[in-house]
Amino acid sequence: SCTASDVVEALRSGAATVAEHRDELVRLDREIGDADHGENMDRGFRAVLTAVEQMDVDSESPGAVLKKAATTLISTVGGASGPLYGTAFLRAATAVTDLDELDGSAVAGALQAGLEGVTARGKAVTGDKTMVDALSPAVEAAKAAAASGEGPSGVLAAASDAAHQGVAATEPLVARKGRASYLGERSAGHTDPGARSTALLLSAFARRQA
Ligand code: ADP
Ligand code: MG
Ligand code: MG
Repeated sequence: SCTASDVVEALRSGAATVAEHRDELVRLDREIGDADHGENMDRGFRAVLTAVEQMDVDSESPGAVLKKAATTLISTVGGASGPLYGTAFLRAATAVTDLDELDGSAVAGALQAGLEGVTARGKAVTGDKTMVDALSPAVEAAKAAAASGEGPSGVLAAASDAAHQGVAATEPLVARKGRASYLGERSAGHTDPGARSTALLLSAFARRQA
């Protein structure tokens, strides 16, 4: 199962992956946005790592680490994605409050709560060409994996694989939310940067190849 210290390790892996893919996320956002998604995410996850490394993890819960990540993302990422990722982590934290360790179904529940936070805040549905297109199939896959008895790593692996398929599916879509929607039909033929960052984070949390 997954302790507070495992959550810190997952965030460390996420921060490393975001840094590694910073230029790619900038390039994707240059095509249909304002070319800052890689910078926003890299700045945010560097700050998250600094913040959670200052915690005394042995006396903290996974939820407390996720909550620290959430408040740090809200105050450092900015743009559309900052409040959305911040809300996702905050809802995930709330979903696991009081648990000292997370099993597979707690991880799936945290992902589902995160998705609900993103949709409550951003009002996007699947097919709008946003991070929801990666996160929503990830949640479905995570719930199925948890129901078949997978632990945290199996659940995250399933979520990651589904998220990457969701990213590929954003390419032909016309954006209906966020900055990319200003381009109308011209947003088609490009991958959504926020969907890509969501899938990258999930593969990092699952320690899978991005
Ligand atoms: P900004 O567009 O303000 O520069 P970013 O570039 O950091 O912010 O993030 C852009 C990403 O945010 C998009 O690729 C998309 O995935 C996501 N996004 C934007 N608006 C929404 C929304 N309403 N719901 C879900 N995701 C959204
Ligand atoms: Mg942008
Ligand atoms: Mg911006």
